[in-house]
Amino acid sequence: MSRFWSKVVHTLTPYVPGEQPKLDHLVKLNTNENPYGPSPKALEAIREATGDTLRLYPDPNADRLRAAIAEHHGAPGLAPSQVFVGNGSDEVLAVVFQALLKHDLPLLFPDITYSFYPVYCALYGIPYQTVPLDAEFQIRVEDYARPAGAIIFPNPNAPTGRWLDLEPIERLLEAHPDAPVVIDEAYVDFGCDSAAGLVHRHPNLLVTHTLSKGRGLAGLRLGFAIGHPDLIAALDRVKNSFNSYPVDRLAMAGGIAAMADRDYFERTRRAVMASRERLVAELRRLGFAVLPSAANFIFVRHPARDGAQLAAALRQRSIIVRHFQQPRIEAFLRITIGTEAQCRTLVEALEAVLG
Ligand code: PMP
Repeated sequence: MSRFWSKVVHTLTPYVPGEQPKLDHLVKLNTNENPYGPSPKALEAIREATGDTLRLYPDPNADRLRAAIAEHHGAPGLAPSQVFVGNGSDEVLAVVFQALLKHDLPLLFPDITYSFYPVYCALYGIPYQTVPLDAEFQIRVEDYARPAGAIIFPNPNAPTGRWLDLEPIERLLEAHPDAPVVIDEAYVDFGCDSAAGLVHRHPNLLVTHTLSKGRGLAGLRLGFAIGHPDLIAALDRVKNSFNSYPVDRLAMAGGIAAMADRDYFERTRRAVMASRERLVAELRRLGFAVLPSAANFIFVRHPARDGAQLAAALRQRSIIVRHFQQPRIEAFLRITIGTEAQCRTLVEALEAVLG
């Protein structure tokens, strides 16, 4: 009954997440989940929090979780007042777009990037311009030297996996001292440096992160942002105008324990990175062009094969990967790094498909 809809709803093109199939025999390499799952200590903390206290609301400010993130994220000297938390980094980003990225000048982001960004822009009426990646699918900060209300990109970028060092990021921050610059570090745990340590020097920097990837907790829905307390205050104002309790008691308990278990985090992220390097070598042996990746996925194309057809052929063999029907990248597949066994299954399937 669309005549009952608010006007803006007619104009929306919602984000389409990767498929979450109901079949459980599939080799699922399509949404960049962590094959090793959460820390056993996080699971134990969630079990302990499952009880009568669930009749009580959670702490609306999530103070203990903010403190755990400030302590364990890795950037030295962070205070809880520099941390914001939400129900997955998608929700954190939704708050960020509304609180910090809507200005008269356009928001800038890459032409090939996380496809949720233009969706938020449409929802909130944010003017934006895309800035093309260079011919090697890299972000060049020099290309952002134009009038900007704000800037956002992922580092590593998605779905390319390519990353920027902190030096160009810092140049970008210095070139736009009056614009908020958001670095979406959803995949930063798999091989590049976090910009979070720069928040002490740059009041215009906000870094977002998630427990979905490096901490293997995509199902729990926890994300956070790190920045100057003034930026965090804006996020809290929007959050408290929208939902007082975005982080529930179980997520709070699991998140605190996951952040504290640095051993498990180090072991599992190193295992993912090692598998990535082995898989890259195997796929190159099969003739694939593979972009350098600092993420838990790789972006690959075969010079002689169509991307959509390859994805369909893998699916017939019960392996799902992500293909984007989008200019410049139709030939590519984005493949999540799975366990060693899953990587082997993938390589065998590709050998069969390629003949
Ligand atoms: N940023 C990027 C670049 C992503 O790819 C994703 C995952 N789809 C997210 C943010 C959001 O992740 P989550 O909501 O699970 O924290």
